[in-house]
Amino acid sequence: MSLSAAARRAADAVDPQRVASLAQGLVQCRSVVEPGRGSDEHEAAAFVAAALREAGFEPVIEEVAPGRPNVICDWAGSAFDATCHRTLMLEGHSDVVTEGDASQWRVPPFEGRIDGDVLHGRGSADMKAGVAAAMAALEAVRGAAPDVPGRIRLGVVVDEEAMMLGIKHFVEQGWADEVSGAIVCEPEENEICLFQKGAMRVNVRVRGVMSHGAMPYAGVNPIMGLADFVTGVREIERAEQARLGTHPHLGLPWLTPTIASAPASAEAQHNVMPDEAHLALDIRTVPGQDHDELMARLRTLADRLERGTDRLSIAVDCFESRPWTKTSGADPLVRAVETAYPAVMGSEPRYGGVPGATDGTILWARRNIPIVTLGPGDRTIPHQVDEFVRLSETVAAARLYAAAAVEYFGLETQTEAVGTGG
Ligand SMILES: [Zn+2]
Repeated sequence: MSLSAAARRAADAVDPQRVASLAQGLVQCRSVVEPGRGSDEHEAAAFVAAALREAGFEPVIEEVAPGRPNVICDWAGSAFDATCHRTLMLEGHSDVVTEGDASQWRVPPFEGRIDGDVLHGRGSADMKAGVAAAMAALEAVRGAAPDVPGRIRLGVVVDEEAMMLGIKHFVEQGWADEVSGAIVCEPEENEICLFQKGAMRVNVRVRGVMSHGAMPYAGVNPIMGLADFVTGVREIERAEQARLGTHPHLGLPWLTPTIASAPASAEAQHNVMPDEAHLALDIRTVPGQDHDELMARLRTLADRLERGTDRLSIAVDCFESRPWTKTSGADPLVRAVETAYPAVMGSEPRYGGVPGATDGTILWARRNIPIVTLGPGDRTIPHQVDEFVRLSETVAAARLYAAAAVEYFGLETQTEAVGTGG
């Protein structure tokens, strides 16, 4: 299917200078989330809101927590009717991960330096370029296709890098209710990603009985219990990998121990066998896995180890569960993006998968919103030192969003026509 003239105009209306200055300005806002050290997306959110207001939009600001506001901005074409037309969400997050040791960076992480086609800085790829592209696309659609029968809802939310409080708040406030499809503008090398890996965060507490290191038989060593548990986890991982194989876009599922500590909290001492050990598991799932079923297997493993050792207890707690997502290729949003892609990129669509969870995971899990993850920036560059993004790729993303939005709204009439015909 070829791109409609209106979608073409919207893509062409994206202003590369505007994209660059928005992305640069966003990088210069230090919106770092640091677990345990506070978070502040306020400046980045204020930048987004001010830029939208200057462009004539009416953004809404909602505090998720003190100093941590979501920015939401609606724009509807003149032919939009809330009862029967589509709302496309363009989604991004304003927070970034820590820059770590700034002296390790070739360019200061929040300077926002542009060298030719490259914008440097923490958050440039993940995902201030994506946010800038979404903002520019919104402006382009309004300018070039003001009469579309559809609505764009831009959501720039906080805390994606931690507990995703921003998108959860967005959903709880009802903003997701009318969204019919979402493009999550995360750095995926502008590949069309219809799959996202699931994630589970699991804490394991192994309780034994404290004793003298010289007389281990007087107590129960939780470290041995923890070691047995880790071995069991590895067996589950191998079995799951063998059962599911390598997903073409998501790779293998993983059950990865990331923290092991004993004693769990008290002061460690060389000749004291502790009473408690703690293990953290970072589990990444693929289509075909069920989170509840995986938890049941971990609990069964814990039960087996408890039965094998007197006075040992193992508690397994999943405190965050974000299921994998899969968007049907038949979804109108996917078709719109696929139509926009060759016209904007000059090549056949490229497809990918998202290795981590994103805010889109929450939109899918809580409101069943079809999501396409698509955005500028190398997939592996986020969270690294010397993060960067290419401006040309960012402009291309903005053109893709603009064209896909217009196409998505326009497809509606065709779908209805097909529907009426039988
Ligand atoms: Zn991100």
